[in-house]
Formats: sequence, C-alpha cells, structure tokens
Amino acid sequence: MDLGIRGKRALVCASSKGLGKGCAEALAEAGVDLILNARGTEALEATAATIRARHNVNVTAIAADITTEEGRSRVLEAAAGVDILINNAGGPPPGMWSDWTRDDFIRALDANMLTPIALMKALLPGMIDKRWGRVVNITSQSVKAPIPQLGLSNSARAGLTGYVAGTSRQVAQYGVTINNLLPGIHATDRATSLDQGVMKAEGISMDAARARREASIPARRYGDPGDFGSACAFLCSEKAGFIVGQNILLDGGQTVATL
Ligand code: NAP
Repeated sequence: MDLGIRGKRALVCASSKGLGKGCAEALAEAGVDLILNARGTEALEATAATIRARHNVNVTAIAADITTEEGRSRVLEAAAGVDILINNAGGPPPGMWSDWTRDDFIRALDANMLTPIALMKALLPGMIDKRWGRVVNITSQSVKAPIPQLGLSNSARAGLTGYVAGTSRQVAQYGVTINNLLPGIHATDRATSLDQGVMKAEGISMDAARARREASIPARRYGDPGDFGSACAFLCSEKAGFIVGQNILLDGGQTVATL
C-alpha cells in the first residue's frame, strides 16, 4: 500500500534502538526523511547509516537527551517544520510504591509526559499552518492495564494520555492527528532488562523468565519492533486522517478486555 507520505519529514525521538528504530525504519520505507535522536552516538550513527543505505532518504542524527530542555532545543533546531512527530523516550525503572520519592516522580513525568507535551507544543503550530500533521506517542499497554511494579510509568503515561485525549480533538480540524500506540511486550533491550528483573525476583534463569512472560501472551511470542513500526507508519499515513485521539494496543492479545 502506498502510504502517501513520500517526501514528508519526521522527527523520531529515542530511535537508535527498539521501538523508535522500528518506527524510523518503517517511515523511511514509506519515503519519509528523518531526524533521529538518542543519547548514545554509536548506535545512533549506525542506525542512521543503515537507514540511509537501505531506503535512500535523508537522515539527520542528533545525539541528545530528549528529556532535557537543552537536548530538546538542539533536536528542535534540526526538526523545525516537520510533518510527523514520533514521541518516545526510555521508560522509568520498576519498583515499589512505597519507595518512590518526589524526585523519582519528577524524572518520570519529565521523560514520559512533559517531554512529549513540550515537543507537541513546539511542532503542532507548524503542522496546523500546513493543514497536515501526524503525531504518534509511544506509551504502554500499562495505560489500559497497569503493571503494578511500573507505577512511575503508569502515572506519567496516564497524564500524557489525558493531555492527548483533549488536545487531539482541538487540532483535528486542521488536518492534524494525534494518537497513542500502546506496546505490550516487544523484543527490545527494554524487554531484556524487564526479563532480568523477573529472573532476579523469582530466582529463575533468563530463559525461564522469558518463557514465563511469553506464556502470558495469547500470541505466545514477544512483539517485533518492525511490526510495531509498520503500525506507526500507517497511523502517520495519508490513509489514517480520520483516526483521532485513539489508544491502540499492540500486545499480542495480552490485555484481556472486550473493548
Ligand atoms: P529500548 O530498546 O531500550 O530503546 C530505547 C531507545 O531510546 C534507545 O535508542 C535509547 O538510546 C533511546 N533513549 C532512551 N532514553 C533516551 C533519552 N532520554 N533521550 C533520547 N533517547 C533516549 O526501549 P524500547 O523497548 O524500544 O522502549 C521504548 C518505549 O516503549 C519505552 O518508554 C518503554 O518503556 C516503552 N515500552 C516498551 C515495551 C517493550 O516491551 N519493549 C513495552 C511497553 C512499553 P540511548 O540509550 O542511546 O539514549
């Protein structure tokens, strides 16, 4: 299917690895020029080079911490006037409700709520002027089905979800859509570190920890970042202009709910 976005420009945050990289690859395959971002230079440059070679699109790589004001302003310098924004950042660590301090909450809110909001505030006006834009926020399955030990993530992402619910309805009249993609367990570094958490907590091997988590997914496997990216690219496509303010689960059926 031609997604109708060849020649558009996208900022994909936190995209040297994992789900962000999956989204970047899928957008590049659709002919979109990219601004990629991550903190570490090595993986970022490697991802940029691979995408350039494979898809023949322009790729600019900005090494910066997207959760800081300084990092965001450097990224925004390169990304002024983009048509597509994919919001992403690392997730907060797991823990126990009684241990989290105010500083822990502020860090989680900065990364997973206030950073995407700041980037939307910066880039939505340009999209509105052009009467076309797409924003996809990578959030989490935990927005619909909270994961108890990820309370920092549950809290910050619920806040972002509330903001998107209202804002998406304010900008849709200008041809700009905002939606959230909610990953369940996907085979990325983040999943490996959560497997390690299960391994330590339960005193079992890594293989056993992964097998236990896979068994909880009706599809009986972890998600593929490439498939996640394809769903993201579709939401960014010309065809998806009537999808507004939705929270779409990609979880292999793990969240048990009728609606
Ligand atoms: P990942 O494989 O660990 O990749 C994270 C990417 O983000 C890397 O490129 C990393 O590069 C970059 N990054 C992290 N913090 C950053 C920052 N402050 N500024 C700029 N770039 C940053 O993680 P993932 O699995 O793709 O997860 C992406 C998001 O989805 C996370 O918020 C995660 O909590 C959420 N999620 C993931 C899953 C899953 O199963 N994978 C499930 C639910 C939700 P650098 O480290 O070099 O910066």
